[in-house]
Amino acid sequence: MGYLGNEFESYDADVRRTMNGGATALVPMASFAMGLAGEAGEVVDLLKKHLGHGHDLDADKLTKELGDVLWYVSAIAQSAGLELGDIARANVEKLRKRYPDGFSVEASRNRKPDPIGEERGDP
Ligand SMILES: [Mg+2]
Repeated sequence: MGYLGNEFESYDADVRRTMNGGATALVPMASFAMGLAGEAGEVVDLLKKHLGHGHDLDADKLTKELGDVLWYVSAIAQSAGLELGDIARANVEKLRKRYPDGFSVEASRNRKPDPIGEERGDP
């Protein structure tokens, strides 16, 4: 247990309480992946209306949609035997190595690809 672990362990338990089909079946895992894409789309739509159509940003709605995204991330992680706290910690460690002095455009432009599976669009 470490950084972020306790909070996400409790969150993972709350997600398990509302998951359909258990944490190990493959069909729910595929459903969770589709749910994640759908909820990410809902976040993008809110931002499109704000940035592209001039609507006020609805922080309450954005909070709910980001919460839906987080729920699906936890559900997928648990279906794969992973814990959200471990994922968050690994991500923070990766970004600390990538940007030891914090993000800068120069550091982003000049960084070398990670040797293992880096995807375009990583922060
Ligand atoms: Mg939603």
